[in-house]
Amino acid sequence: MKSEVKSHMTGEPISIEPDASALAALDLMVEHGIRHLPVIDPSSRVCGVLSFDDLRAALPMAISLGVPLDVEQRGDAAEIAVGEVMTYSPVVIRYDAPLEEAAQLMAEGRFGCLPVVDENGVLDGILSETDLLYALVTMLWAERRTEPAPAPLDLVGALEAERAHLAEQLAAYGRHEQEITETRRDTPLDEAEEGSAREDGFLTEQLAELASRRLRAIDHALERQRRGELAICERCEGRIPDARLRALPGTNLCIRCARELEAQG
Ligand SMILES: [Zn+2]
Repeated sequence: MKSEVKSHMTGEPISIEPDASALAALDLMVEHGIRHLPVIDPSSRVCGVLSFDDLRAALPMAISLGVPLDVEQRGDAAEIAVGEVMTYSPVVIRYDAPLEEAAQLMAEGRFGCLPVVDENGVLDGILSETDLLYALVTMLWAERRTEPAPAPLDLVGALEAERAHLAEQLAAYGRHEQEITETRRDTPLDEAEEGSAREDGFLTEQLAELASRRLRAIDHALERQRRGELAICERCEGRIPDARLRALPGTNLCIRCARELEAQG
């Protein structure tokens, strides 16, 4: 999975300008249920961060995301500007920085979020503790999936045995084709013999083609088995039953996903 900041941040974040009022900032936080606002200048560059805790520390009244202010309190909050109470020149992170760099900055600085900026310092997104937790969850689950899946041992044994058999068969087809060619070259054939030799050669070729296709499918299946993915549907991550894997060893789709894809065309 990609571990750049961009893949995990929240894009198009709610932001505010420094000359807006603390009341406007609080209203935005309440409306969107967020606790941090990046503060941007007129060219959308990040110049500060305002947190709910900053507001709580600065405003003369008790505030909460749940209880609205009364008229008088709203009047008081409207007199304070965001620029007076925000954190200036906050630590920011580039959208293309590795996620671990962002996590380390946040942990060491005890930041609840980082504004994400592009190469010109323009606000591009916001990375919160929640975003980091989701990233962690995704990674841990992905790791778990690469542990060997409950191995359908008899299926793998059967596939390995079939593979050995197919390899022998293919070698035999090869020898047979060789014989046909040599017979033709050594002894002149009459018309009937020529016809049947051609048919024989054609059939052998067909069988060899089928056998080598099946062999490739089994190789693909055994490769998937080594990665612990043999019985896992690539599309829905559900389990592919053994019967389907015996019939179509190289398949990476369960029957339902195969049908859905087929129906989509
Ligand atoms: Zn599926």
